[in-house]
Amino acid sequence: MSLVVIGTVAFDSVKTPHGIREEALGGSATYFAVAASFFTSVRMLAVVGEDFPEDRLAELGRRDIDTSGILRIPGRTFRWKGEYGEDLNEARTLETHLNVLQEFDPVLPDSYRDARLLFLANIDPVLQAKVQSQVKAPDLVAADTMNFWIEGKRDELVSTLKDVDLLVINDGEARMLAGESSLPKAARKIREMGPRSVIVKRGEYGVALYGPDGTFAAPAFPVEDVFDPTGAGDSFAGGMMGYLARVGEINDTTLRQAMVCGSVMASFNIEDFSMDRMWKLTRGEVDERCRQFQALTRYDLPGTLG
Ligand code: AMP
Repeated sequence: MSLVVIGTVAFDSVKTPHGIREEALGGSATYFAVAASFFTSVRMLAVVGEDFPEDRLAELGRRDIDTSGILRIPGRTFRWKGEYGEDLNEARTLETHLNVLQEFDPVLPDSYRDARLLFLANIDPVLQAKVQSQVKAPDLVAADTMNFWIEGKRDELVSTLKDVDLLVINDGEARMLAGESSLPKAARKIREMGPRSVIVKRGEYGVALYGPDGTFAAPAFPVEDVFDPTGAGDSFAGGMMGYLARVGEINDTTLRQAMVCGSVMASFNIEDFSMDRMWKLTRGEVDERCRQFQALTRYDLPGTLG
């Protein structure tokens, strides 16, 4: 199944307890596409400025990533600066410079319009809606968002969500969007806004799916040294959607498998700064961690059950 993502391509400056990285390659669409490319080919729609090095785009193109939808326009590339304290589950945004994002008017190349799977990665919800309206007949539209847009463009976001099938969102942001501290209740309220299903990402505590077939939860793969959590959520979504595109079928079984693939890709991504771990990652390592993940979650029912 063909997969398209719209989102940000960024320069990230990040501080974690393991160190500092300035102006590293980041962005929601970039993390998503790199993770998805381990499972399928993926077409990216994004914008960069004149300062974005050509060889970075070429690096993405060497993977199974179509970068022909990445526009270069006058101005500076989107920049994000954040830091993590001892609680690595929560990024603290220090600076957001939208730069060329403010001029971005996304037009899907013709070759992208027949996408069967569309991922609206974290970006202005107005741009998410514009892209969605250009895809002819997608089987699944999934989306992500963050506090920046929930606070700054709430009405636009709520309008975009009406046509989204699956929202993939952090626990804190699910609570903020729904105005509800209980996650199951927050998920129900979000589902009432449009999405048939909601996946809540809970950092090191794993992910939970709330949907028409009930609830499914998976732990996060235990990683001893988290170097940089940036992009974990986007890598999760990339692994998940990439897997669905590869198997070509969306049902409760494949969605659960997809969530494990997403968790595995996120667990690799956080082992180094920016995308450094992903550049070295092999398909064999991904397969092996999927097997370890199964062992992590398999158990027999207690023998005392009647
Ligand atoms: P996450 O997977 O949630 O850790 O996403 C991290 C990525 O989101 C970083 O690479 C940032 O460049 C990007 N990002 C940060 N703020 C925004 C924003 N307001 N809109 C879109 N992308 C953002």
